[in-house]
Amino acid sequence: MKNIAVIGAGTMGNGIAHVFAQFGHRVSLIDISQASLDKGIATITKNLDRQVAKASISEEDKAATLGNLSTFTSVEDGVKGVDLVVEAATENIDLKLKIFANLDAITESHVILATNTSSISITKIASVTSRPDKVIGMHFMNPVPVMKLVEIIRGYSTSDEVTHTIMEMSRKLSKVPVEVNDYPGFVANRILMPMINEAIYTLFEGVAGVEEIDTVMKLGMAHPMGPLQLADFIGLDVCLAILEVLHDGFGNPKYAPCPLLVNMVTAGKKGVKSGEGFYSWTHGTKELVVADNFKK
Ligand code: NAD
Repeated sequence: MKNIAVIGAGTMGNGIAHVFAQFGHRVSLIDISQASLDKGIATITKNLDRQVAKASISEEDKAATLGNLSTFTSVEDGVKGVDLVVEAATENIDLKLKIFANLDAITESHVILATNTSSISITKIASVTSRPDKVIGMHFMNPVPVMKLVEIIRGYSTSDEVTHTIMEMSRKLSKVPVEVNDYPGFVANRILMPMINEAIYTLFEGVAGVEEIDTVMKLGMAHPMGPLQLADFIGLDVCLAILEVLHDGFGNPKYAPCPLLVNMVTAGKKGVKSGEGFYSWTHGTKELVVADNFKK
């Protein structure tokens, strides 16, 4: 498993490519957008500089990591000679089904096809390939170089052998893999998203303000950040999409997205990536500033 391809050079894709390259794999980073590839490599370089500054890696390690990375806008060129593909493209089911049908057609039959999806069914993705036993979820957490967990999701037909290979590979990346089955939200988001949704309902119903809700959860439950701040980091559009998967998948009203979340996404307030969510992210300091809509 020396040669790996990562599809998508966005928030997650560049982090996944960084970690594989740091642990000695040759990585083809593939994106439809050259600008995303350039931004991805710039982010990896900045994050490696941070690791060097903290003395967690040497300058030689940084150079070797960058030397292990190549970028491609053509998926056909990027997947040549690889043993594993990790897909981290935009969270959209039609897009992912198209990507996997194409990967199945253009890669050799032994190649393992993994997806970093937060919520889309692995079994569904596997169903468009002729190798459902070799399709698996490899759900890294953001920021990938820092976060230890990889949720390994077995689709209905994923083989024991492929699961074992991916669990072992994750350990070699110095991560802690946890094996779970393929049901809506898997484990991480099935538990996290209802908490975030409840925090948004608590705000919506006027029980408390943004800062109060986050402070209760930070200081009362020892969470490193409050659920509303975390939602801003994840992206409110991503939170909404995952809640919709839970709601559709279980048919249980307890997963219905809060109308305030729906309104915010419709208004383009997606959190950090759009500059505003529950907090404002455009003032250029590290201080948390509540967005104007939620100021008292
Ligand atoms: P992102 O929007 O930052 O990046 C997605 C990238 O995919 C973009 O650069 C886009 O140009 C590229 N892309 C789109 N279509 C493509 C195609 N056909 N071929 C190649 N590249 C293509 O998204 P992200 O936040 O990095 O999310 C990627 C995946 O990771 C999603 O499935 C998401 O659910 C999952 N995920 C995200 C997080 C998170 O915190 N952001 C955490 C865990 C998992």
